[in-house]
Amino acid sequence: MVLRNLLRRLVLIVALGSVSLAGVGCATDAAVIDQANQMHAGLEPAVITDPQLAGYIQAIGGRIIATAREMNRQNYGPSAHREEDSQWMYSSEMQFHFVNSKTLNAFTTGGEHMYIYTELFEQCQTEDELAAVMAHEYGHVYGRHIHKAMNRQYIVLGSAAAMGLAGYAAGGDKHGEEYGAAFAGAAVLVGNIIGMGYTRKDEAQADQLGFDFYVRAGWDPAHFGDFFQSLIDKGMDTTPEMLSDHPPLRDRVAAARERARQLPPASRNWRRPNVATPQQFAELKRRAIEVGQYMPDDKSLEKAQELLQALPRSCLTPVVQPDQQEAQQQIIDELRQMEQKQRQAEQEARRGSKGGS
Ligand SMILES: [Zn+2]
Repeated sequence: MVLRNLLRRLVLIVALGSVSLAGVGCATDAAVIDQANQMHAGLEPAVITDPQLAGYIQAIGGRIIATAREMNRQNYGPSAHREEDSQWMYSSEMQFHFVNSKTLNAFTTGGEHMYIYTELFEQCQTEDELAAVMAHEYGHVYGRHIHKAMNRQYIVLGSAAAMGLAGYAAGGDKHGEEYGAAFAGAAVLVGNIIGMGYTRKDEAQADQLGFDFYVRAGWDPAHFGDFFQSLIDKGMDTTPEMLSDHPPLRDRVAAARERARQLPPASRNWRRPNVATPQQFAELKRRAIEVGQYMPDDKSLEKAQELLQALPRSCLTPVVQPDQQEAQQQIIDELRQMEQKQRQAEQEARRGSKGGS
């Protein structure tokens, strides 16, 4: 909590010090998409571009999205879904990414990007498990959960603040320097997003939406809760419910089973073969490990991974993990250093201009 407040305060300092607040009040789709794109620039070095892997995740995502488009036509979804035109949510701009990270997580910034960490992929036993998590992430987009969070926080940072810092970002190498801007921008937004988070209600709703997309897109209803069950089996459901912003995993698994039980008989016709056979799935997982090992291990990848590590994990676990806190602290420190450098540079510039007159 202390860390979260610190980070939030720093974000405010950065924002107020460098630029006026870009948007106050209701977050529009355009604002959320813009924020998500800035964030993506910081995460991009960790994105797996291997055509086979990228093609696979996009094929699963495409099925989820095509189903959502059809359900939207039938007026499906919460009221927030109908607040603005939702056509962008079904466009080819919508991207699911595998990101190279040892962190167990999946996340979306609410715009056109949804991230599945390779660690999560590796822990999925079946495509059903992967598709369930992806459908859940897309549920956050469909339900406009980040919009609501931005409204709660009533602060939308423009990139200018971060870019101001970025001018002074120290790059460890050639890539690092170019990447400083993206990192600083994304780091500030990580702070913003950590401050917002998803509420318990959002998570439950994303499960509901995700289940409906998953089932109608043809995956097996009996397996929607499998990945969450595997997390319970690993002991990740141990936080007292009262302290959590998040439905306990066991409740989510129970809800998934109940939803499967209540499906109409006609739902049997929705079933389709998985995108990959179990054998192909295992092969793709092996490939992800291999590709991850050969990604250029430069500063930019390291920083993208640090950002990924700091992001909320509320889609999977109510507990803030120690390594997550550590990553947040590191980002705070780096932003502070950048801020300090910026101040120094400004002072020097002022001195310089006085001397010249
Ligand atoms: Zn979630």
